[in-house]
Amino acid sequence: MPVMPTPPDARGPAAPPPEAAGGPATRPLRIHADRATGTLAIVWADGHGTTYDAETLRRLCPCAYCRGEAGLPGWLDSNPTFGPAQVQLVDVSLVGQYAIKPTWGDGHDTGFYTFALLREACPCEVCSTRRSG
Ligand SMILES: [Zn+2]
Ligand SMILES: [Zn+2]
Repeated sequence: MPVMPTPPDARGPAAPPPEAAGGPATRPLRIHADRATGTLAIVWADGHGTTYDAETLRRLCPCAYCRGEAGLPGWLDSNPTFGPAQVQLVDVSLVGQYAIKPTWGDGHDTGFYTFALLREACPCEVCSTRRSG
């Protein structure tokens, strides 16, 4: 079922920052992964709407391979150019009550994206403005 995104200006630029984990800002009401367009749309309990395109989502991957661990750089630190399979959203599954796990066309599926991360990195205009301000 398609998700109706909240217009970016629905709450105005004065929207407060997301609440701490567990608040409505990091509680998804609906999550919709569209494999055809490669987008992930989330509607949050506070009414905000977040839409990720596949490449933006892949670049956020928080797993040890992509991000590095123990002080070592990860794969994403080399600023790789993604191949088509690497930004192909194959599946998205829920991890408990706190995260989602996408599966990518190249088989990569070790990234647990917490709801807090997904909300914090929301690429919409309102959130981008808030982060840069
Ligand atoms: Zn990863
Ligand atoms: Zn946003």
